[in-house]
Amino acid sequence: MCLSRLLFLVFIGDLLDGIAARIIQSPILHYEQPNCAGKDCYPELNSRLYQGDILLPEGVDPKNALKIEPLLWPNGVVPYAFAKGFNKGDKSKILSAMRLIEMETCITFLPRTILDRTWIDIEQKKEAGCYSIIGYRPLPHEGPLKFNLRAPECYEAGTIQHELLHVLGLLHEQARPDRDEFVDILWDNIDEAYHSDFTKASDTFVTTYDIPYDYDSVMHYPKWAFSKNDKSTIVAKNDTERELGQRIGATNGDFEKIRRMYKCQITSEDLFGGNFPLNKLFL
Ligand SMILES: [Zn+2]
Repeated sequence: MCLSRLLFLVFIGDLLDGIAARIIQSPILHYEQPNCAGKDCYPELNSRLYQGDILLPEGVDPKNALKIEPLLWPNGVVPYAFAKGFNKGDKSKILSAMRLIEMETCITFLPRTILDRTWIDIEQKKEAGCYSIIGYRPLPHEGPLKFNLRAPECYEAGTIQHELLHVLGLLHEQARPDRDEFVDILWDNIDEAYHSDFTKASDTFVTTYDIPYDYDSVMHYPKWAFSKNDKSTIVAKNDTERELGQRIGATNGDFEKIRRMYKCQITSEDLFGGNFPLNKLFL
C-alpha cells in the first residue's frame, strides 16, 4: 500500500468530518477570482507552449497523455526539488497546493532523494512563464522534468493546482475528445497563430474516465482564450454567456479524474455518499 493511501485511511475520519466545511455551493456560474482580474488570472496562456503551458519533450505525442500507463507516476508518488534561492513564500504556496491534492487523491509529493532518477524540478525563472511537463517520463529518460512558475503571476492557488495537475497527466478540459458536444469553438475569433492550441485529443489515446464535461474545471480555458478581437473563442453550447475555466481551485471533477487515473481506492462516490458533485470546490 502506498504511503498516500495509508495516510488517507488513517485520516479518513477527519477528512469526512471536515469535508462539508470545505465544500462551497455548486454550480458556480460567476467567478470572483482572488487577487487577480480578467486575463491576469490566466498567466499560463502566455507561455507559448503546446496548448499554452504544456512542455512536450522531443518524441512525445501530445495526444497520449491521459490513459497511457507508462506516463503515470509510479505508485502515484511525485518526487520534486526546488531550485536554489527559491522564494520561501512562493514555496509555501506550492507545498499547500501539493497537500490539497494529496488530501483529495492518492497522490503523494515527496522531496527528491538520491534514489529518485526522475523528478520535477521546480523553478522560478523570470524569463519563462507558468508551464509544466505532462505526466511522467519512463526510463530510459532520467533526470529533472521542467516545471516553472514565474513570480508573482503564477502563484494564485488555482494556477499552481492547474500546473500540478498537468504534472499528474491532465490535459485541458476543452481538449477532451467529446468537447464538441458541450462547447463551440469560434475559430473566426481565434488568432490564427493559436489555432493549434484548440486541438482536440483523440479518444484512441485519451479518456474522459467517464466524468461529465466540467465547464468549471480548473483545467478549462476561459471563454476568451487566444482571442484576436476580444470576442469569445469558446462558449458553452447551452449558455453562451457562461463563464468557463475558473482559477480559484480544482473541482471535484478534476480530482476524480486523478483518482480514477491512478486507481485510488477512494472515489468521489465514497466521499459524497453515492453522489458525484462535479463542480464542488475544495478550499
Ligand atoms: Zn494548462
